[in-house]
Amino acid sequence: MENISPALLDWFYKNHRILPFRTDPSPYHVWLSEIMLQQTRVSAALPYYERFLAALPDIPALAVCEEEKLHKLWEGLGYYSRVRNLQKAARIVCEQYGGQLPADYDALRALPGIGDYTAGAVASISFGIPVPAVDGNVLRVFSRLYNDPAAVTEPAVKKAFTARVMEHQPPDAPGDYNQALMELGALVCVPNGAPLCEKCPLAHLCAARAAGTALELPRKAAPKPRRLQPVTLALLESPAGFLLQQRPQKGLLAGLWQPVLWEGEALAAGEVLARLQAMGVDTGTAAPEALPAAKHIFSHIEWHMNGILLHVPAQDAPAGCVWASREALQAEYTLPGAFKAYRKLII
Ligand code: SF4
Repeated sequence: MENISPALLDWFYKNHRILPFRTDPSPYHVWLSEIMLQQTRVSAALPYYERFLAALPDIPALAVCEEEKLHKLWEGLGYYSRVRNLQKAARIVCEQYGGQLPADYDALRALPGIGDYTAGAVASISFGIPVPAVDGNVLRVFSRLYNDPAAVTEPAVKKAFTARVMEHQPPDAPGDYNQALMELGALVCVPNGAPLCEKCPLAHLCAARAAGTALELPRKAAPKPRRLQPVTLALLESPAGFLLQQRPQKGLLAGLWQPVLWEGEALAAGEVLARLQAMGVDTGTAAPEALPAAKHIFSHIEWHMNGILLHVPAQDAPAGCVWASREALQAEYTLPGAFKAYRKLII
């Protein structure tokens, strides 16, 4: 196949979206934007990006930010491990690199939360280093361009596709080339529905277009089924507010706040009351009300939630818990999206 970069770059320079991390592609900006965009659309991520940078304008500020503030800045984006890794990496960058991301692919790759793709994006876009940055958009474009039915979810296939991506990369514009491929995948060679081949600068080279197979590509291995997990919540309200429990600092939703709950168990109201009493909670005399059932999907687990709402007398919070007023819940505590179905009751 002839080199795609001249036609691709020409298209990119004329058609790319003006985005703040493109206008000012400093390493911190590109890093932050790529982490935010991992599970979030550009239009949804932009307000978060602006707000985050206004609060934490550089890596040293990120490194010393308080945990609650950091979670609050991320609230609504989900996948909180991303922001915790951002901060862990920022602290390492301050200790080892004077607060500036290193201009070195392997050193970037070694930082928490930075994989091949993000290291490649920062290295190529911010530092002009000729390395690949292959995300789902790029895999889709190449799978169609070469009409290759290999499953892009397989590491060996991704490696082979990455080698092809690099065969076309111009050494003098690696960042623009990588961004152009991502942009083509986002705007033209789109994932859902038919690609807009009539607008594609690579249409004359595209094997899938010629074969009429674009809609069947890329091929992916079937995902592993999610584990279904019952969860029982106890939403307790006293004159001081709602009882929040902090999750452990490791694992799912690490360090975030939640109503008191039990994972892996669907408990009847009587059992919930007994467990609350065992925690030292005065459950009072009000009858428990059933909470509506709700579901939340994490990448590998699906929570099926049920539980009770209970009005209890004023009292101290049990160990690991706090009473939070509605105002404090708005301003200080981050309630993960998993509890979205119950937000209306709480806030
Ligand atoms: S011609 Fe169509 S299928 Fe081929 S790369 Fe372009 S948009 Fe994708």
